[in-house]
Amino acid sequence: MPPDWGSIPRPVDSRKRFCTKRYNPRKCSPQEVDTPMPASPDTVHSDAQPREKIAADITIIGGGIAGLWLLQRLCTLGYNAILLENTALGSDQSVASQGMIHGGIKYTLSGLLTGASQAIADMPDYWRKCLQGEGEVDLRGCKLLSEHFYLWSSASTTSRLSTFFASKATRGRVDKVSGKQLPTLLQVPEFKGSVYKLVDMVLDVPSLVRQLAAPLQSRIFQIDWQSAQFQRQPDGNHAIAIDNDAQNLLLTSSAIVLTAGLGNGPLLQQLGASSPAMQTRPLQQVLVKHRHPHGFYGHCLGGETTPRVTISSHDCGDGSQVWYLGGSLAEKGASQSSAELIRCAQQEMRELLPWVDLGDAQWATLPVERAEPRQGNFARPDQAFAAWAGNCKNVIAAWPTKLTLAPNLASQIVDLLTKKDIVPQSSSPIILPLKAPAIAVPPWQRLFGDS
Ligand SMILES: Cc1cc2nc3c(=O)[nH]c(=O)nc-3n(C[C@H](O)[C@H](O)[C@H](O)COP(=O)(O)OP(=O)(O)OC[C@H]3O[C@@H](n4cnc5c(N)ncnc54)[C@H](O)[C@@H]3O)c2cc1C
Repeated sequence: MPPDWGSIPRPVDSRKRFCTKRYNPRKCSPQEVDTPMPASPDTVHSDAQPREKIAADITIIGGGIAGLWLLQRLCTLGYNAILLENTALGSDQSVASQGMIHGGIKYTLSGLLTGASQAIADMPDYWRKCLQGEGEVDLRGCKLLSEHFYLWSSASTTSRLSTFFASKATRGRVDKVSGKQLPTLLQVPEFKGSVYKLVDMVLDVPSLVRQLAAPLQSRIFQIDWQSAQFQRQPDGNHAIAIDNDAQNLLLTSSAIVLTAGLGNGPLLQQLGASSPAMQTRPLQQVLVKHRHPHGFYGHCLGGETTPRVTISSHDCGDGSQVWYLGGSLAEKGASQSSAELIRCAQQEMRELLPWVDLGDAQWATLPVERAEPRQGNFARPDQAFAAWAGNCKNVIAAWPTKLTLAPNLASQIVDLLTKKDIVPQSSSPIILPLKAPAIAVPPWQRLFGDS
């Protein structure tokens, strides 16, 4: 029986058994993780044992937004593709994200039009079409949490912002709002700053994951790497040998695509790939469960060009809501203890929203890491990334770098396949002796589940 892809508790993270190095979410600076090294001879080898062979056109490893979006695109194009997930769909980053589909305005705040701002500018429109069932992927059924994202500034930063928002870089993508157009949370006499409405929108990511996975349920399997391993075949391609009580089989594919987020580093190492390398950027998000009636989706801008705090609101499943706090607070907070960070967050809320009483709120923090292709100086990558792995014939490693850019990532991967003449071949259903994974439970439900 496939699982009900609703709120199923997150299973034990089997990646912990699989990783060869520990991640350190407390470190503030980005980390290079699991620099690919030659694989040990017992992890990549050809197999003398006869096994049943099963051929997929493409095997995707990792079922976050990147893998699920890619699966949809490949199946629409006629590829016989499958996806292997080792934990729960959307674990790690996707379900822990703030769900913003953004047009990159926050990256233009420095006044420069960067690669990031150009690549991302069209994305809200692209996703809106998908939500209406008129895009490349049908997202009707995915829950929209907010049509807009707001950017608000304290009185001291207002004049710099007004000049910037009047500039060419943001034309048509930002509207100043006031009075009754303000988000309800800010419609109080105490509020003195300026508010801008961005074209960005906010999605409920668990419903996005469910919507992407549901039509392709028969192609999504849970893999336990304790009973599976990569094997290099005589033709130089990697295949996956799966041994469990039910069967011993060899899964061959024209291409294996790694979309495992943080898991890409260890997977590349297992494969003996010489490139690409991965970096991680640690964050510590803050969660506030409270009884204030208003949801809010916005960045508060302080003196820096990155938002001081970014707030999104999520349903806790018991009638209460959680404000999920990111931005600089979470970046700087990565090196703080949970208690220290909570104290900082409480202070921020008192300064920014003094009229909101959070006296009986519950607080928690979530250390989480962004996984990205390694950049010079550990810079923030501004585009989706996919490339053939060095020293491997049929492996692509990919990171979207942002939820918003998952569609761009899928297009890049389709291009890589097409350029290598990897076209749809087999059409017979792929039946593996593996069960279906659950969908990850979002942190606001996991952390406050029993309260
Ligand atoms: C706190 C936070 C907030 C964010 N907010 C936003 C936002 O508002 N907007 C935005 O555009 N972006 C945002 N991002 C970035 C965005 O979430 C990520 O870029 C995106 O979700 C990455 O998707 P992914 O599929 O590559 O990785 P993940 O979502 O991490 O998925 C990887 C999947 O692979 C699985 N896996 C791992 N190892 C293995 C293995 N060995 N075998 C099989 N499966 C494996 C994992 O279990 C997981 O399901 C945010 C990120 C964070 C951390």
